Amino acid sequence: MAEKRAENQQSSLLGIEVEENLRAAFNALPNRVPVMLFTGQGQNDVLNKAARDLLREFNRISDKVDLSEFDLDGAEARKRNVNSSPTLIFDPERYAIRYLGVPYGEEGRTLVGMILLLGLRTSNLSEQSKKVMNRIGSKREVKVFVSPTCPYCPDQAINAVKAAIEAPDTVSLEIIDIQSNQETANRYSAFSVPQTFANDVLISYGAQTEELFVLSLQKLEQQTVFIPETDAEVVETDVVVVGAGPAGLAAGIYLVRSGLKTSVIELGALGGQVATTPVVENYPGFTRVPGKTLVDILVSHALEYVQIFQGEEVISIQPGQKLEVRTTRRKFIARAVILATGANYKRLGVPGELHFMGRGVSYCATCDGPLFRGKKVIVVGGGNSAVTEAIYLNNIDVWTTLVHRRSTLRAQEHLAKNIFSNNIDVLWDTEVVEIKGKEKVSEVLLRNNKTGLVYPFAVQGVFVAIGYEPSVNLAQSLGIELTPDGFIKHDANHRTNVPGIYSAGDVEGGYKQIVTAMGQGTEAALSVFEDLAHPYWVAKEEEKPSETARM
Ligand code: NAP
Repeated sequence: MAEKRAENQQSSLLGIEVEENLRAAFNALPNRVPVMLFTGQGQNDVLNKAARDLLREFNRISDKVDLSEFDLDGAEARKRNVNSSPTLIFDPERYAIRYLGVPYGEEGRTLVGMILLLGLRTSNLSEQSKKVMNRIGSKREVKVFVSPTCPYCPDQAINAVKAAIEAPDTVSLEIIDIQSNQETANRYSAFSVPQTFANDVLISYGAQTEELFVLSLQKLEQQTVFIPETDAEVVETDVVVVGAGPAGLAAGIYLVRSGLKTSVIELGALGGQVATTPVVENYPGFTRVPGKTLVDILVSHALEYVQIFQGEEVISIQPGQKLEVRTTRRKFIARAVILATGANYKRLGVPGELHFMGRGVSYCATCDGPLFRGKKVIVVGGGNSAVTEAIYLNNIDVWTTLVHRRSTLRAQEHLAKNIFSNNIDVLWDTEVVEIKGKEKVSEVLLRNNKTGLVYPFAVQGVFVAIGYEPSVNLAQSLGIELTPDGFIKHDANHRTNVPGIYSAGDVEGGYKQIVTAMGQGTEAALSVFEDLAHPYWVAKEEEKPSETARM
């Protein structure tokens, strides 16, 4: 017996312990895993041999690895459109999974993981990931570039295998070893691994968590934050925060850290306006940070504490001791609500603006700016937004002219200086009268406010950055008082005139900075905490206890 073991050990590529573990794992699989190996003499001969040795070894260890070998010049290779050597095809009657190269080195983990999942015929995706996969409505051709020396690659490759097993009619997968497929790697500029493409769109640099991978696969762009979903129809919580901008997220963190269960509800993009701010340079602690990156950091931090319900609109709030918040998806029962609904882009209100929206008219330079590279655009406005966006567009080679209705900028001096140091043209005392074009914007009519002269100006894009309107519909429906400027009126503790309802962030007006919004969110959260412990509407009557008495 010992002799037999020693003999086995000598002949084994894997070592006796690994071999025994693999044998036990493979033999326990309920299904055989058909593996087709295609090799062509003269094309990567060393790798062909390595692939043959490895797969024959797996087949020797357990007949659950059902190996068949084919020549690259043969009919089977032509039938299956295989043209690189070595190529492995796994269980082609059920799935569309290929490995181009040899899964050795670190990639041995991918091979073993793949065989186990295929033998079980299960994706092992989490319920959350399955929900996301169910939403993928069209084909996804996935390519994961890997290398045998990359320790992170197997995680990403297995994410893709799971997706291909979960949705075999939708997802086809090629795992591509860049060392044996250099031409393909060059074509995709895959010079670092892992890199993942779906339908030839880069959806990830580096390895992702399973949830982020499936989300990136669904959205066909790299995702950095995954928010778990829930089917609950009624959510009992202490506080509902409406809005997941900086104010709402900061409030959420502080509320939960105060011991209050909190749900944050957001209809649109997380992070509010920050998500579409090209670069933020005045967030203390970060010299320069892209708005979206800052949002990802904030959201990830908030998710450590709160549950975020994204994509739901709050349609009504019923005030009372128990507040009832109805959304388009479910009902929340809460003891307090913070309205951090922010503000929306202000529109110019000129002819052509709505007609050409998305066809040359944009309110977001980071989102749409790259489409205008080498083209001529105007940015309208004279505040921080207009100046930031003009500098950003200019930096990405968009021919940018700033159009401002006055002769001085409202923007902070530091930003304003950058307009001049970047030689960005400014048309002072000028307003947009009309936006014109055929299918897309081709010109604007401008009016000089001093001379009254109206003249055409040829442009392909109009970026409107003239401030924001506070989102107060919900507040108004609750009878919350507004300021003369249309913002939510509140006391020093962010309480509105409706008991149990608070406000925070840009919807309150004020300086509208990221840090001030966060400060307002934090203050509102701490007020809620204090008021829930000592209800101010009761305390008002019974004389509110002093700060020191409470401590
Ligand atoms: P803003 O400061 O209110 O400036 C709006 C600009 O648009 C003003 O110059 C205004 O002209 C002009 N404008 C308004 N209505 C117009 C119309 N109908 N036609 C032509 N021009 C019009 O708005 P914002 O720049 O969007 O900034 C909003 C808030 O966010 C501010 O508090 C700002 O500081 C903050 N913000 C901060 C950053 C940052 O880097 N941290 C970036 C963006 C925004 P007038 O000057 O004549 O009123």
